[in-house]
Amino acid sequence: MSGEQQRLDSVHQRMALACKMSGRDPSGVTLLAVSKKQAASLVRRFFMLGQTAFGENRVQEALVKQQELADLAIDWHFIGPVQSNKARELAEQFDWVQSVDRVKILQALSRHRPASLPPLNICLQINIDREPQKSGLAPEALPTLAEQAAEAPGIRLRGLMALPRFSHDPEVTRDSFARLRMLYETLREAGHELDTLSMGMSGDLELAIAEGSTMVRVGTDLLGPRAV
Ligand SMILES: *Cc1c(COP(=O)(O)O)cnc(C)c1O
Repeated sequence: MSGEQQRLDSVHQRMALACKMSGRDPSGVTLLAVSKKQAASLVRRFFMLGQTAFGENRVQEALVKQQELADLAIDWHFIGPVQSNKARELAEQFDWVQSVDRVKILQALSRHRPASLPPLNICLQINIDREPQKSGLAPEALPTLAEQAAEAPGIRLRGLMALPRFSHDPEVTRDSFARLRMLYETLREAGHELDTLSMGMSGDLELAIAEGSTMVRVGTDLLGPRAV
């Protein structure tokens, strides 16, 4: 068995076990392979093993990879900070943008999404621990931006994404995930039809699944260490 197959199986097993421990249906959690700083050839090998969704955090790097992999039906997710001068490329080349955190970016993505494509799936990124250096909107700004996203042409609001503050204490991380989930449930109760709670990475996917994650974003434990 190849190293890639082993790592893919191992991540799927971790996800399945985490679902079992919290009484969740494993089909309710999907895997996004984070391919930033990884070679296109490696993405291709994982695609051949059945992994179809890949996440990138830099536009230029992603566009080069997408060209090289244009023959594959990959679902491309953007998960990095969005600059407004890159909104057109994102709107044209990606299936998802998970890191929308301000109205200016939302409107630029909406304006540039080609009418020939299905609506662009987006998540709103929340700065769940209010860290000054991190992207994401403040929790109290969420209801307004969610309304704007729901009304934006060419946009389909799917849910929320966050990167919690790093902690060695699992209870601290779990608390961040729980607060994101509460925001998600509040939006759903307000009538937004959301299906994506994007939280959990290599080191904490089990905690995220226990708190209701529907999409884990895994880089290192799946594709291996990244080039620096
Ligand atoms: C890099 C990255 C990940 C994956 O991190 P790993 O620890 O390598 O699994 C997930 N989400 C975002 C937004 C990232 O930038």
